[in-house]
Amino acid sequence: MYHAPETAEDSQTQGGGGTPKPLLPPFSLIGQKLTRRSAILELMDDLGQAMTLRPEILMLGGGNPGVVPELQAIWRRLMRDLLARETVFDSMLANYEPPQGNPQFVRAFATLLQRELGWQVGPDHVAVTPGTQTAFFFLFNLLAGRHTGSARRKILLPLCPEYIGYADQGLEEDLFVSCQPVVTWPDAAGRIFKYGIDFEAVEGRLRAGDIAAVALSRPTNPTGNIVTEAELRRLSDLTAAHGVYLIIDGAYGLPFPGVVFRPARPHHAPHVINTFSFSKLGLPGVRTGLVVGPPEIASALRAWTAVVGLANTNVGQQLLLPIVESGEILDLGPRVLQPFYGERSQAALAALREHLGPTGVDWAVHASEGAFFLWLWFRGLSIGTTELYHRLKAREVLVVPGAFFYYGLSQPVTHQDQCLRISFAQHPERVREGIRRLAEELADCG
Ligand code: PLP
Repeated sequence: MYHAPETAEDSQTQGGGGTPKPLLPPFSLIGQKLTRRSAILELMDDLGQAMTLRPEILMLGGGNPGVVPELQAIWRRLMRDLLARETVFDSMLANYEPPQGNPQFVRAFATLLQRELGWQVGPDHVAVTPGTQTAFFFLFNLLAGRHTGSARRKILLPLCPEYIGYADQGLEEDLFVSCQPVVTWPDAAGRIFKYGIDFEAVEGRLRAGDIAAVALSRPTNPTGNIVTEAELRRLSDLTAAHGVYLIIDGAYGLPFPGVVFRPARPHHAPHVINTFSFSKLGLPGVRTGLVVGPPEIASALRAWTAVVGLANTNVGQQLLLPIVESGEILDLGPRVLQPFYGERSQAALAALREHLGPTGVDWAVHASEGAFFLWLWFRGLSIGTTELYHRLKAREVLVVPGAFFYYGLSQPVTHQDQCLRISFAQHPERVREGIRRLAEELADCG
């Protein structure tokens, strides 16, 4: 594989031994930034290898959804129905559609949100994107970075640790600033903790006047935290008062896929940008994301999609159109995904108690309120969790070390070396075996 030299000078001297190499131009600064070894690249490489080439690896790492037979049966039925409607099927494959998304789908989605949630939104508030990862790349670079004159604006993450996939998305350096959470201990046994928003810190950061948007995932990846309704309302009021957008990433959340283990409601307001994804319903392969926000945002995303990719992928929109129109998409969480992932979360917690209990290791876990992850905290660990990640990889167990989820902070924090994320989305027996090996490794660390 060709690796671009960093400078033209490097390219002339490459190869050593006097063999002249053709002089190829170096990558641009943006090119270099986006091709360096990012955390998300490492994670997706690990995930891709484990899911395709190395099935023996115990995949407690990435955010791949589990295999949910009841949903697979629904996708197969919808695909058969689609194949039978030949005109729709042919046009789905044969046509570029408007970059905002398929007009019928966009209208149906806005209608669903109006009807079921009472949101005051129409088609102008909606933009389809090729997955929400792409939506975040567009949104962050649309809003933050250098502005006219010398002003620079940033994205504020009110509760760090936050989703690894945002970290490297800035076309410019230092796009993010983050606030550390406050820690509370909701259970008397001292094994379960919960992060909360430090509003004093958030307000202080907003007062600096250089924030374009506040962004958070809810439920949070990596912790499984669901920021409370009171916190969310306060954040919404604060951002409105400071004239900045509030971006709520609902990849695992509400109203679908609804992987939430305690009562919670979605939130919308005129300055709020909500993002939704089909991926965690079990459809990451269709690469379909949805953004609902002020019309100027939807319209900007439409323009970015046209420039970057002409149009969206049509398959996910056509496949799910019938259950968006009927509203069935909203039942899948409460009826199927909550029990499915809720049981897996409980099984993983039980395995932690069983295997870590006898080791004497000082462990705690973030309250598992939603998403696919447990966020573990080892306060007495003699090595950092990055070293632990490498040791576990040698034992064919993939986890994600805490440090990947910390960015935008002015200084390192202890949690980043003492915490790690495991996913409980895969088969419970495999997750249990992964946890057993984790406990063994921790016992060896002393
Ligand atoms: N947001 C969060 C919190 C995620 O965990 C993910 C994927 O794992 C995404 C966004 C992006 O998902 P997609 O691009 O598949 O919609």
